[in-house]
Amino acid sequence: MVEGALEKMSAQPGGPASYSLRLRMTTSSAPDQHALDLNDLLGHFLDIEYLGSISCSYCGRVSKKSYAQGYCFPCFRKLARCDLCVMSPDRCHYAAGTCREPEWGESFCMQPHLVYLANSSGPKVGITRDGQQVGRWLDQGASQGLVILSAPSRHLAGLAEVALARHISDRTDWRALLRQDAPPIDLLALRQRLQGLVLDLSPSVTWLDGVEPEALSYPVLSYPQALKRFRLERERRVSGRLLGIKGQFLLFENGVLNVRQHTSFHVRVRWGEAPSEPDTDDQMELFPG
Ligand SMILES: [Zn+2]
Repeated sequence: MVEGALEKMSAQPGGPASYSLRLRMTTSSAPDQHALDLNDLLGHFLDIEYLGSISCSYCGRVSKKSYAQGYCFPCFRKLARCDLCVMSPDRCHYAAGTCREPEWGESFCMQPHLVYLANSSGPKVGITRDGQQVGRWLDQGASQGLVILSAPSRHLAGLAEVALARHISDRTDWRALLRQDAPPIDLLALRQRLQGLVLDLSPSVTWLDGVEPEALSYPVLSYPQALKRFRLERERRVSGRLLGIKGQFLLFENGVLNVRQHTSFHVRVRWGEAPSEPDTDDQMELFPG
């Protein structure tokens, strides 16, 4: 058993990807972080109990409600990473001089970015920091990824994404993602088609040639029968046999838990063999005839 504040799961590519459930320790006597290897738990019992509070992933303040996936309300209002432009990079306002934290903006947003195509629940377009594309695809549960454009900043990558999203989705349908392995897509052909359609990109955004698509696979024994999406505020406790991990979702027999959505939630995690049912045969022997 271990207790702490949930963090986004970490994933390493492989056949299949290997995942860790990470917990931030909230008591000073404990080490900073605990990582639980989830691939070892496939087919075994996993129990996550919400203890009723969140501790802000920036300042550690304890509160009842999580803002922008893991922050307290004051941090949500103050930090540039909680601003609307993080979700909509095409609305970056750094150039207007109104970035909440210009230094953070320089280190995070004013850096080379890539535009990619991925196959999550179907073809989609997205952006990421240069070098972080594989981690991004794993977070989304994509089975294929291909980088197609490079841009000097997050803002310009965001504008290119908007232009491409007129022809292809920029969303993932989580139900489709968690129902089956996505049918393969010819991402190189899709890239060719988009290059012919999208002609109005900024001159500093360039098409990448000669890049090959990458394939990713996930530790999934089987997909859930029911796609109920658990929320720890409501369910308080999620437990059952772990069927798989895909993207930021834990797959149980009776539903799924998006771990990232519960960043900073204080939880108690137990794992191992399922609690055994009372054995009826033994009971019969105790009460013969
Ligand atoms: Zn905070």
